[in-house]
Amino acid sequence: MTKFEEMDIDPRILRSLNEMGYTEAFPIQEKVQAPFMSGIDLIGQAKTGSGKTAAFGLPLLHLVNPSQREVQALILAPTRELAVQITKEIEKLAKYTGTKAVTIYGGQSINVQIDALLRRPHIVVGTPGRVIDLIKRRSLNLSKVRYVVLDEADRMLDMGFIDDIEFILEATPGRRQMSLFSATMPREILDLARRYMSNPQKILISADEPSVEELDQYYTVVDDGSKQDRLVEILKSERPSSAIVFCRTKIGAHRLARDLEKRYFNVVPLHGDLSQYQRDASMNAFRAGQVEILVATDVAARGIDVPGVQLVVNYDFPDDPLVYFHRVGRTARAGSSGKSISIIQPDDFPNFYRAQHLTKTIIKPLTPLDEQKALHPNTRRQQSSFIRYGGSRPYRRTGYQHAWQSYRRR
Ligand code: ADP
Ligand code: MG
Repeated sequence: MTKFEEMDIDPRILRSLNEMGYTEAFPIQEKVQAPFMSGIDLIGQAKTGSGKTAAFGLPLLHLVNPSQREVQALILAPTRELAVQITKEIEKLAKYTGTKAVTIYGGQSINVQIDALLRRPHIVVGTPGRVIDLIKRRSLNLSKVRYVVLDEADRMLDMGFIDDIEFILEATPGRRQMSLFSATMPREILDLARRYMSNPQKILISADEPSVEELDQYYTVVDDGSKQDRLVEILKSERPSSAIVFCRTKIGAHRLARDLEKRYFNVVPLHGDLSQYQRDASMNAFRAGQVEILVATDVAARGIDVPGVQLVVNYDFPDDPLVYFHRVGRTARAGSSGKSISIIQPDDFPNFYRAQHLTKTIIKPLTPLDEQKALHPNTRRQQSSFIRYGGSRPYRRTGYQHAWQSYRRR
């Protein structure tokens, strides 16, 4: 890794990097700097926790002109919590440059944000819904934007967001640089992305980067109905000082948080049915280390960086292998170590093997008994779901069967 001092970095930014304790550039940061500064479109992919925020934040701060009081850069992110986190990182980096960033997101009073925009920030970080709102109200003028960044880009370009993104891009000038960042970049999304970019350069970091090796991934098999007891056992034996437990639904997360509280765990919920005030309170308490356990839906799956998270539990196993990958990436960040434990029920096996295969990782049994249960899928439901998936989804079939076989070989 190269020291920031040896790179072409503004001394004022070097000073804040120093204060933040960043001395060496992470690989993605080093590789992105020059192409980003040259103004070309680019796609940066590097593992979770490998410093992608500063990878776009640093060149942006060099490119944005503080004396020009207009929105020059727009950064879009999928969740409010992530948008806030990105702004904070940029504000720290920009401490001595005079560059101002504001966050635009749903849930917070729109008037507060209109006021913030009247103070003419240089950088806007936002979630798509509220950004569109403010464009329509003519409070947000993007006509001078020169840089657009999509963080968690594959999520931003998927079905849920793509129309919003198109609308926003139309409010920006035709000639602007666009860059995409994510740990995952599925083929079909990459193809789609080309529509909005001209000749993007791809910067992929795979090996020699700090996060993956330090993540220990486990699974444990439970019968239907005994998940919560298993979770409690896990929390009691692991005694994490900081853990995130992922649930599939908002109501599920809410109930689980309440149940754990009744069992004397120090927990807070985080999901989309809470008010923004409650969401902020949960996030702040968790970040500050006042509570050990965050029970969350996938609003916390992407991008959220809480240093020191020791354990991620998949209480409900995700359908989408990419979601698995992003969830477990909330731990073992920036070179520190971490552990994930997935609680799987018989029905989850197809998804489990797909996650294992797609992310090319080894998920180890937590105990020998778990291994036995996984090797002898003798419940009827488990076998029927095996066949259902194997038969009806041809493109996944090979992946699934391969994972299954390689698993057996071990
Ligand atoms: P990503 O977006 O790739 O998941 P983040 O940008 O959230 O990763 O960064 C992960 C963690 O690494 C953060 O806590 C951040 O403060 C830290 N970090 C980033 N760059 C550096 C660096 N050059 N030196 C030390 N820590 C860094
Ligand atoms: Mg990130």
